[in-house]
Amino acid sequence: MPAPRPSESAEAARAAAQQAEFNEKKWVWVPDEKDGYLAGWVSKEEGDFGEFRTVPLYALSKMNPPKFDRVEDIADLTFLNEASVVNNLRLRFGSGAIYTYSGLFLVAINPYQTLPLYSDAIIQQYRNKRRDENPPHIFAVAERAWVNMGEERENQSILITGESGAGKTESTKKVIQYLAAIATDVHPSHSRSPTIVSTTTMPNSGLPRSDSFRRGHALSSSVSSGIGSHLTARGRLGLLERQILQANPILEAFGNAQTQRNNNSSRFGKFVRITFAPDGSIAGANIDWYLLEKSRVVFRSEAERSFHVFYQLMAGSGALKESLLLGGGIEDYEYLNKSRREVDGVDDKEEWSALKGALDTVGFTPAEQFDLFRIVAAILHIGNITITSTRADDAVMPDPSQAERVCHLLGIPVPEFTRAVLRPRTLAGREWVSQARTKQQAIVELGALCKTLYEKSFGALVDKINLALDRPSSKSTFIGVLDIAGFEIFEINAYEQLLINYTNEKLQQFFNHHMFVLEQEEYAREGIKWEYVNFGLDLQPTIDLIEASGSVIGILSCLDEECIMPRATDLTFTNKLHGLWVGQDTEPRHPGRDKYEPTRFDQGFIIQHYAAKVEYRTDGWLEKNKDPLNDNLTRVLAASSDRYVASLFAEYAEAPATPVGPGGAGNIFTAGKKRAMKKGAFRTVAQRHKEQLSSLMSQLQATQPHFVRCIVPNSNKKPGRVDIPLVLDQLRCNGVLEGIRIARLGYPNRLPFVEFRQRYEVLTPGIIPRGYMDGREACRRMVKSLELDEAIYKIGTSKIFFKAGVLAELEERRDMLL
Ligand code: ADP
Ligand code: MG
Repeated sequence: MPAPRPSESAEAARAAAQQAEFNEKKWVWVPDEKDGYLAGWVSKEEGDFGEFRTVPLYALSKMNPPKFDRVEDIADLTFLNEASVVNNLRLRFGSGAIYTYSGLFLVAINPYQTLPLYSDAIIQQYRNKRRDENPPHIFAVAERAWVNMGEERENQSILITGESGAGKTESTKKVIQYLAAIATDVHPSHSRSPTIVSTTTMPNSGLPRSDSFRRGHALSSSVSSGIGSHLTARGRLGLLERQILQANPILEAFGNAQTQRNNNSSRFGKFVRITFAPDGSIAGANIDWYLLEKSRVVFRSEAERSFHVFYQLMAGSGALKESLLLGGGIEDYEYLNKSRREVDGVDDKEEWSALKGALDTVGFTPAEQFDLFRIVAAILHIGNITITSTRADDAVMPDPSQAERVCHLLGIPVPEFTRAVLRPRTLAGREWVSQARTKQQAIVELGALCKTLYEKSFGALVDKINLALDRPSSKSTFIGVLDIAGFEIFEINAYEQLLINYTNEKLQQFFNHHMFVLEQEEYAREGIKWEYVNFGLDLQPTIDLIEASGSVIGILSCLDEECIMPRATDLTFTNKLHGLWVGQDTEPRHPGRDKYEPTRFDQGFIIQHYAAKVEYRTDGWLEKNKDPLNDNLTRVLAASSDRYVASLFAEYAEAPATPVGPGGAGNIFTAGKKRAMKKGAFRTVAQRHKEQLSSLMSQLQATQPHFVRCIVPNSNKKPGRVDIPLVLDQLRCNGVLEGIRIARLGYPNRLPFVEFRQRYEVLTPGIIPRGYMDGREACRRMVKSLELDEAIYKIGTSKIFFKAGVLAELEERRDMLL
């Protein structure tokens, strides 16, 4: 309920005038193709429309009285319809308020401009304040998580989703900025200024910080354009806090890229946990990552770039480039010269220094840094390997120098690398035979190698960051921030979209369930008998359809099965899917059957997600799901003389040698008899994602969650413009409207007895005797005298609850009197 704030009399007069004007007509929202909704009023309910627009009555939604304009929490609107929701967001955004609550959500609209909302002064403004004491803000969410963690000793999570470009990653940085700032404030003695770094011990654990993270260059204050900048400028953060902040530019260099939607688009999802010691100081951090878009290193649309690090390295130090054999410029590398090379307003050379500074701060040794760049360079060289074909259509590498560069950087023998790419050995029956590849196959194999190299190196990079930042301690608690792509519906939806949408289906279920639990608890606390519906259950059939395994086969298990079938193709997979769910009605009914349809044209299927029906096309799914690399190649890499490269492929290494005679264990091409691989070496993408997701979900389930929904206001990255249909689409996809729908089924508006009496006692003169009266009893008398239908309100032990729209009526009556 928007608390009636003390207002100037002029303000009050204006409000009264507005209300009077509002009361004259029956205002409604009229659906409109271009603007989403237009304000209108009902001139007549039938016939004679004159020149006015004709709309069926059911298409109209009621407008909230002006008193509700710009409410900070959408849930306080008395008419909770889409039009009112989006109108409120638009009004607020227009006056610079990018944040708005909607019940359990914080909605954040990307302003596409720098707003003065994140200074130290603002941080202080949100310290130790309740949510309703300040305007909505991402800091308020972080503050609440922090307070809950401290008071209840319970882990917290902040789930941030939204479309690409909506501001998820910026929001994540703001949360971490806030936490780093307040955690440092908690304990001035722990503000480990650079000068006392050498005496630093871990708070709580009592362990001295590892030496490798305390080297001199950790003191360098080189700062990236990211969140680090204004924080480090304060010079008050300790080393660990700075390391945590500086992990971000590293992740962004390797995991972000310029895309059409976002110049700094994260091409992976992440869950960053900041751990705190019992005294509230930061004890460490840990990062989990999901679904890196590794195909980008090989291919992307012309208007986009590869991962930032490629261009940063190319703009970087000459000496380093020389040792990486990178003689040319961007135009000389096939994997870079086919698409965009620069990002507006970004200087890759500066970013390069920022990256180096961040790597130093986090504690990467020069050798470890070299390892990372070596992989990047090797990928560029692989992209330049020319493959031609013989008359018999066998692939050949005409220029040996290209493969030599690659092999030099990767520490592998040239003949074996070439053979693994051009003529890999395969098992035919009990015999090993080498089979020549076609040009196209060899090119695909090289591409697959680059994707795998990049992803594995990214994984190793994150592992190393975690090693530097993670200080597990039994007494610590964490705040986890999830920055992950929201629901995606494109023209063509591929395997990647299925995995993202599946993830979002689970996250939405988590939200629905959480909301259900909280509402149920609130009704129980207030002694109200109300069977609130668990909408989490609604999503289960769709989730089963995707993830089930065992007696019912879900889409992902079906895909896994097809991946090991000898002659399977994307088409046989698709047909198998259709067979599973579109079969005869006599079969036991699959829980998700009514959520599944085959597509009529392309090979694919349609799933009914909570947000919408989405059509998926299954081209390339088998390949995308499999481990793309030929095991000849992985074994060459696992046997690399370079420690880092070998470690990336360790899972493919030969089992410890059992003697197999001369030339056995050492020679990978004759070691066929004992090619046992380490367990777990081969996992499909589906299996890995399912495992990761279930681990994420169980972590989230053990936290108190907070939900942030980021919204992109227009498709042109422009400040100040709101494309209403675009926003509405996002509100549908991100669960905000779903949350409102669920809220409406209960009693969404609630007021403490005192507030209710204060505001509406004017409507029931003489009903409540002067002097003290029990709040509950007063409310009971008031609603009786107001002749409210018993179905539209509930009286609890401290609050009175209303169905949507009731307060509008009371407001109207109140304004007639005043
Ligand atoms: P996402 O992670 O959702 O894809 P980002 O967080 O990378 O989106 O935001 C995209 C761009 O939008 C940023 O690079 C920045 O320019 C702008 N932006 C996002 N949030 C804000 C904000 N709160 N204030 C100013 N600019 C923002
Ligand atoms: Mg992002």
